[in-house]
Amino acid sequence: MELKSNQVRLMMLQVADAIIVAEPMLSQADRDLGDGDHGLGMKRGMEAVKAQLEPMEPTSVEQVFVTTGTAMMTSMGGASGALFGTVYRAGGKALAGREFFDAEGLALLLEAALEGVMKRGGAKPGDKTMIDALAPAAAKARESVGISLTAALTAVAAAAESGKEASKAMIAQFGRAKTLGEACLGFPDAGACSVVIMLSTMRDFATCGN
Ligand code: ADP
Ligand code: MG
Repeated sequence: MELKSNQVRLMMLQVADAIIVAEPMLSQADRDLGDGDHGLGMKRGMEAVKAQLEPMEPTSVEQVFVTTGTAMMTSMGGASGALFGTVYRAGGKALAGREFFDAEGLALLLEAALEGVMKRGGAKPGDKTMIDALAPAAAKARESVGISLTAALTAVAAAAESGKEASKAMIAQFGRAKTLGEACLGFPDAGACSVVIMLSTMRDFATCGN
């Protein structure tokens, strides 16, 4: 199973709605560790994504993801706008010339997203950021090339969830949470929670949304 560009557009609209619905949970996750603005920032970003994607007649898979990233980058502002914008802009560019979104495309997207975020933000695995969900997701996607997109997304979403859970035991090295030291133990990183919601919504779309 593979998705055409218009199905990728519908998938990203479902991702946008899932993040908007999760705003209170994401706000609370960020409040436990930082300033509490992550949920509202992501909600604003996803409303901008919806405004771009709803009327769009996409010509490529790359275009859908790059448009998503640009909308997030320009509407959210701040560190996480630039970082989540990079996830989709760098990830989307890695899909140039590909007609369909399949398990190999998922691996290319997540690997480029991870590389882009690490380059832009300077964090690495273990620093208690979104990278702790993205890195295991990208590794699992690479292992999943050759199986169906639905099966790959199921494995990848589970890997991201495990990474998010593992972030509870990490001491933050970036963002507002850095000042908390050991007080951030037991709480997952908010950006990692967003990554889990995005990937599990993609899984749900691939499973029964098309
Ligand atoms: P802000 O940190 O400006 O308040 P948000 O609250 O929206 O922005 O986003 C915080 C999230 O951004 C964190 O939970 C973390 O996942 C992610 N983040 C922050 N700094 C970095 C970084 N240098 N690299 C990767 N992700 C980061
Ligand atoms: Mg914040």
